[in-house]
Amino acid sequence: MHKVNASIITIGDELLIGQTIDTNSAFIAQEFNKTGVWVHRRVAVGDVYDDIRKALDDESVLSDIIVITGGLGPTADDITKPLLCEYFGGKMIVNEKVKAHVIHLFEKIFRRPGPMLERNLKQAEVPDVCTVLHNARGTAPGMLFRKNGKLFFSLPGVPHEMKGLIVNEVIPVIQKEFALPAIIHRTVFTAGRGESMIAELLQDFEASLPSHIKLAYLPNYGMVKLRLTSIGDLADAVNKELEPFFIRLQELVKDFMVVNDDKKLEEVVGQILRKHAKTMGTAESCTGGYIAHLITSIAGSSDYYKGSVVSYDNTVKSGVLGVNQSTLSQYGAVSEQTVTEMANGLLKTIGTDFALATSGIMGPGGGTPEKPVGTVWIAVATAVKTETLQLNLRFDRERNIHMTAAAALDFLRKFILANT
Ligand code: AMP
Ligand code: MG
Repeated sequence: MHKVNASIITIGDELLIGQTIDTNSAFIAQEFNKTGVWVHRRVAVGDVYDDIRKALDDESVLSDIIVITGGLGPTADDITKPLLCEYFGGKMIVNEKVKAHVIHLFEKIFRRPGPMLERNLKQAEVPDVCTVLHNARGTAPGMLFRKNGKLFFSLPGVPHEMKGLIVNEVIPVIQKEFALPAIIHRTVFTAGRGESMIAELLQDFEASLPSHIKLAYLPNYGMVKLRLTSIGDLADAVNKELEPFFIRLQELVKDFMVVNDDKKLEEVVGQILRKHAKTMGTAESCTGGYIAHLITSIAGSSDYYKGSVVSYDNTVKSGVLGVNQSTLSQYGAVSEQTVTEMANGLLKTIGTDFALATSGIMGPGGGTPEKPVGTVWIAVATAVKTETLQLNLRFDRERNIHMTAAAALDFLRKFILANT
């Protein structure tokens, strides 16, 4: 089986100083992977002439496909286009189609005040040795160069534009020019066990895998995804070979498996609620609406999610959710008693089948010797039953919030399963 290899070169000083996170590589890698193109190296370089040339030289030794993003803007710091022109031995010419597109965008879509600048029109200049790839979403065209049987795609750095070009222009060209293998992933989503524990459990299983089937551990916020990956010429055959290993993996982790799919926790909770035609709501103090955001990021969540009370201040806990003043003064806002009343207050206030409540100290300030930073209480409730969970986290504020949300959603998931 012939593997089609790709390299991704991302260009821009902003990537090297950490001002911009390189999300382009992740997107391209995901799309290529689905298509059967193996990304075996990613390189980031600054807007520096020699560095870009060196990256092109190096990557074209290794890869059949080289994708370059960034450096195509109309400003002086963006040097990729003239550099590519020279590298592939061409000269700059005006592409009339691109020019018409740029004028159309400025006159009909952007409608910016003032005249169009010379430097914007420059976007229509391309090396005469490239094939222009239409950028429907912006002014900088994509470009395809060929050298020694290798394909070089140059795309703008703006993520939204780059994405359109990858999906609509780059992948169709690759599919036409290469016989691509099938890369298949199967994922088991687990919660409540650390990756080292799981690795112990899977030691023999891992050793039994053929060399072309890989097992990857992907830990995140107290959960671990286990991904089996295989590659071969035909998707059906790869799937058939992978299936018994995937079934065995599920058996081995069945006690702490969430779902046998690469899903988000909030998606899994939503599926369970939808299946049982139940609804839920949230009463969030320390997570400040973050759980509501996660749940409502899933399309169709209005089928089961009613809403949230962000009861950050005690006046909202008592005024809107009906938490007793005496509970707050006797036990404090971060306590089992308070989250219990928050969850039950929410059930009455917005009338759902299930309620989820959080209250905690996220830091960096606000901790006491009895309740240090990272102390969190979570409650889940139905009209007849409430369960609580305490967490003792030890991270920074952002991670404490994310950890709380993940733990709360998983606690709710188990509660729903046990009470429907
Ligand atoms: P450029 O094509 O170099 O003019 O890039 C335009 C903008 O796209 C930059 O200012 C960045 O904000 C963004 N950008 C460039 N490269 C990347 C990347 N690898 N990942 C995410 N955003 C990027
Ligand atoms: Mg740039």
